[in-house]
Amino acid sequence: MSDETIFSKIIDGEIPCEEVFSDEYCLAFKDIQPQAPVHILIIPRKKIQSLNEIKEEDKFLLGHLVYVASIIAKEENLEDWRTVINTGSKAGQTVFHLHIHVLGGRSMKWPPG
Ligand code: AMP
Repeated sequence: MSDETIFSKIIDGEIPCEEVFSDEYCLAFKDIQPQAPVHILIIPRKKIQSLNEIKEEDKFLLGHLVYVASIIAKEENLEDWRTVINTGSKAGQTVFHLHIHVLGGRSMKWPPG
C-alpha cells in the first residue's frame, strides 16, 4: 500500500487544513466532516499507516499524540471528551495515516457502533 494519503498531503502542505496545533512531531486540524461540535484529528508527521504498523521506536510518539489530545481538549474547554483510533477498514479506518480523533461538545454513547 502506498504511504501517500490525503493526510500526508496535508503534512506536506499540498492540501489545506484548519490547523489547531502543530509541532515537530504532529499536526492537528479540524475534521472536514465533524461528528461532534468539536472534532479534531491529530496525526504524526511520520508516515505510519495505522496502529498495526507501530514499532517499539514509536511508543514515545504515541504518548506525545495522546498528550497533545489533552492540550487540545483544554484549549477547546472540553471536560468530557472521547478519543478514537480506528485501526483497519472493518473498524472504520478510511485514511491510512495514523490519526487520533478528539470528539467533544455533546453526549456520547457506548458502545460505539
Ligand atoms: P477514519 O475514518 O478514522 O480513517 O477517519 C478519517 C477522518 O478524516 C474522517 O473523519 C474524515 O471526515 C476526515 N477527513 C478526510 N479528509 C479530510 C480532510 N481533507 N481534512 C480534514 N479531515 C478529513
